[in-house]
Formats: sequence, C-alpha cells, structure tokens
Amino acid sequence: MSMRPFLRNQDSPYWNRYYETMPRRQLDELHLHRIRAVLQHAYDHTSFYRRKLDEAGVLPGDIRSLQDFKRKVPLMDKDEFIMLQEERPIYGETLAVDPDFIAQHCETSGTTGIPLRIPYTGYDTERYGEAWACAFWWLGVRPKDRFYFAFNWGPFAGFWSCYWGVRRLGATVIPGGGQNSEGHIRMIQRLKPTVLICTPTYALHLAEVGRAMGVDTASLGLRFTFHAGEPGPCAIPAMRRQIEEAWGARSGELLGLAEVHAFAPSCPTQEGVHVDETGCFTWSRDPETGDEVPPDKIGENIITTYVNNAQPLINYRTHDLVERHNECACGRTWAFLKGVVLGRTDFMVTIRGTNVYQSAVENIIGHIEGLSTHYELVLTRVSGMDRICVRAEPVPQVPADQYDQLAHTAAGRIHEAIKVRLEVELVAPGTLPRYELKTRRIIDQRPKEVRRVLDRV
Ligand SMILES: [Zn+2]
Repeated sequence: MSMRPFLRNQDSPYWNRYYETMPRRQLDELHLHRIRAVLQHAYDHTSFYRRKLDEAGVLPGDIRSLQDFKRKVPLMDKDEFIMLQEERPIYGETLAVDPDFIAQHCETSGTTGIPLRIPYTGYDTERYGEAWACAFWWLGVRPKDRFYFAFNWGPFAGFWSCYWGVRRLGATVIPGGGQNSEGHIRMIQRLKPTVLICTPTYALHLAEVGRAMGVDTASLGLRFTFHAGEPGPCAIPAMRRQIEEAWGARSGELLGLAEVHAFAPSCPTQEGVHVDETGCFTWSRDPETGDEVPPDKIGENIITTYVNNAQPLINYRTHDLVERHNECACGRTWAFLKGVVLGRTDFMVTIRGTNVYQSAVENIIGHIEGLSTHYELVLTRVSGMDRICVRAEPVPQVPADQYDQLAHTAAGRIHEAIKVRLEVELVAPGTLPRYELKTRRIIDQRPKEVRRVLDRV
C-alpha cells in the first residue's frame, strides 16, 4: 500500500473544523463522556485516585453531569503529586499504566527545588503533538515550513511536545542546540528556516544579538515565530509588536502545562488562546469561595486532561487566573481565554492591603511607550512592610536624560491601574539578565520566612 498524500485543505483556517465549531451543548456531552472514562481509568489503575474518590464518597459511575463532576470530585494540586513521587519514586502512586508503556520522561522546570516528574505513553505524546499542530495551523504555518528550535534539549517538556507537533504537522525540524546566540543567528542565516521556536524573551534577546552582529533579523526569511513557557505575544501586545518587528514575522503562542496538556493554542486574532476542548475539560473557580465563576469573569483555571493516560490529572488546580469567554470573533466555539493568563493565585504580594499580581504590572508595562518588555520586580521588606520596585529597561531609542520622566510616567500609570504606588527604576538597555528558558521576573529579597513559593512565572 502506498502512503496517502496529506489530504487536509491547505487553505482552511481550521485544523479540525468539526470539533473547533462544535456547538456548546454537544461539546459538553462529549466532555461528560470523556470525564467519566478518565475517572474510571484513574480509579481502576491508581491507588491514589481510588483513595481520594473513596474518601470523598464518590464513584466514577456517580458522575451524571458536569455539575456533579465540579462539585463532587475533589481538587488536586501539584504539591500533592510531588509529595507522592518523593515518597515512592519514580512516579509514586499516580502512575496509571504499566511502566513498559512509558515512551518519554519529562520534568517541570519549577523553582521550588523538587521537579514534578511526568511520564507519557506513546499515545500521550501523539495527542500533545496534535494540539501543537493545531496551534501552528491556526497561525498559518503549513507542512512546507521549516522549524528552527533555538534551545538546548533537556527534560523541559514544552519543547519536546512542540517537536511532536512539528512531526504531526509534517514540517521540517532543525534542532539548534549546543551553541550560543551568535551560533543560532549564523545557523538561521545558513539554513533559512521559516519558523522560530523559543521563549518570547529569548526571541527578543536573539534579535538584539543579531543587531549587534550587524544582521538584519527582519529580513532573514522567517514567516513565523512561535512561543511558550512565558507570557508571550498574545498576552502582552507590546511584546508582540517588538517580536514581529524584530523578525519580520507573525507571532503565536501556546499555553500549556507540561503535566497536563499543550492545552491552549493562540487564536488567529492574537488576542488570547482557545482551550483544546477535545483534549481537556476546563472550568473557572473563585479561589476564595470555591464557587464556579460564570463566563466573562475572572477565575482560577481548573483542568482535567484526557491526554495524559500515564499520570491522569483530574480537577487539577493551575493557579492561573483566566477570563473565559464562550464566544470569539474567529468563530471557534472552544472556550476563549482573553489575554491568556491574567495573573496567578499564588504570585501575589499584598502592598498596603492591595493584592498586586505580577502579571497585572507586566500588562501595564507592556502598554507604556518607550519601555521594552525586559523588567523585573524586586521585592524587599522594610519595617515589616513589603515593597516592590519595578526595574525596567527602556527601548534603546530613549535618551538617558529622559529616564526620570519615563519612570515617573510608568509609576503614574501603575498607580492609576492598580491603585498602589510602586517605585520604578529604569536601567540601561541590555542590563537585566536574559534567560534561554524561563525568565525570572521576581527577585525576592525579603527574609526567607516571608517568601511565598515563586514558581512557574
Ligand atoms: Zn478565536
């Protein structure tokens, strides 16, 4: 038998029109069916879920509606899984398949010290890849494209699952590991890829390095840049402008959680992401009251994955604050998370009684003309009070004698938006550290005992 040609309509904006435009009622029926299957799988194959559900007095067969599921099935948290893995290495009591079926091991890049270990079956890797392929397609990437991966391969899941996606799409993979930024620029010049894969801040850094080498990165022939791992072009409009200008390419991003799913590709409108409702079920919860948050309001994203059979995650807390909409201008029916992630339930500092979310400050900085997207928040404690200093880099065009004025403007805008005065300090372009993987935005200089866990920013 000969190989079938690639039959997908190359002009269609949809990767899978049938599912992407499925009416909500039908999607919900599908969710209930899949949730029951996942619960049964977890209950039958892990002592952890069996204990958890027995304690809550609920059996998989008791779940007759999505409401039942949200109300009766207990929430899970990352720390719980890390603890179980520490108690019984490698994967603890949550492994739901025979170890022979594990096709790949990855780890989350948390800063808490202990990584979460993530096993994937071959099927799981296929499904992660499917979500990435869908994300690429929506942006306009096609099988004829050539991907350049500007990073070193390690246990970080984001890039592996991205790689599975490029394979699924049928495009070309060019791994760029084992070299520095200058090396990346030269390799891009030599091999002429059309898609750049890296974190958004690294894309900006790489463009700076290119400029210093006298290379016009906007005319290297890239058609797209694609990002994950940090708030990217759909979360921060200023960052999108900078990346797209620097590379002469259209930017997209994917919101994912290594242990859960590559669950939300960016919408073609570039204003947010859509939840892959064939791969997971999500709902929003008020972190204070625990009640479900209705559409168009902000709440914590709670997720159940259908695509991690090796280590099922059910009613899993993401600690990400999202604004969920049931409609989007692009016509897709999958839940739309406007602005991607708007804050973290646990990355918050209380300043004079007001909760200050890191991403809220980031969003404001992203809208101030003259500021770049390189910034950090320095936390200190003076006379028992927490203080935040925003240390930011202006764009190179701003003369040094205007820094004071710009800092003043920035402080004013922050005060206007979040009702708290924060100190703003501007430093020369190129001063703040650049990171290849997760950018560290919060520098916590408070005494150890008052620090919160600063993870996954
Ligand atoms: Zn959309």
